[in-house]
Amino acid sequence: MPIEEVFIGIGSNLTNPVSIVQDAIVCLGKITSSKLINCSSLYQSEPVSDIVQDDYVNAVVAIETSLQPTFLLLELQAIEHAFYRQRDPSLKAAPRTLDLDIVLYANRIIDDSHLTIPHPEMHNRLFVLKPLFEIAGEIYIPGLGSLSYLIDNAPAIDMHIISEPVILASGPGVVPG
Ligand code: ADP
Ligand code: MG
Repeated sequence: MPIEEVFIGIGSNLTNPVSIVQDAIVCLGKITSSKLINCSSLYQSEPVSDIVQDDYVNAVVAIETSLQPTFLLLELQAIEHAFYRQRDPSLKAAPRTLDLDIVLYANRIIDDSHLTIPHPEMHNRLFVLKPLFEIAGEIYIPGLGSLSYLIDNAPAIDMHIISEPVILASGPGVVPG
């Protein structure tokens, strides 16, 4: 199976989103047939929503994987669900606590009913584009253009770095950082 480079966007605005994002990164490092290879700083960003809610913590990680996109998405959804279960069971209608998106899968363009790659909103989301630039540098986004072009043209939001890249914890499939 070919090994592909994939970028995954992480977002959380739970009460302690920094630890949620850090724990999620550890989980991403344990996905089967995959290896965590890079991790951006953690960013705090204002919510892009009409609903009043806390700021988000965002990051982007790079993995190498031999999982095909649909199977990788299932792994990401399993991690999302694991974090939902940690919430107060009385808060059944609570907003999502962890969002894991496949931002890029190598140079592929996918437009299925359940999966669109590059992520369909990435060009509108500085909280994805900036951490992606931090770890990927100037790359070409299939169908969209250069990453710096997208950054220059995305809607402005208030965001800043709140912590350095997470130390990549040792564990199966994880490259010590
Ligand atoms: P968003 O990530 O835009 O805030 P959601 O996480 O609620 O929205 O969207 C979840 C749905 O998006 C999933 O059911 C999944 O099938 C679909 N989806 C389409 N493309 C992607 C992608 N590249 N990464 C993750 N989910 C995706
Ligand atoms: Mg999502």
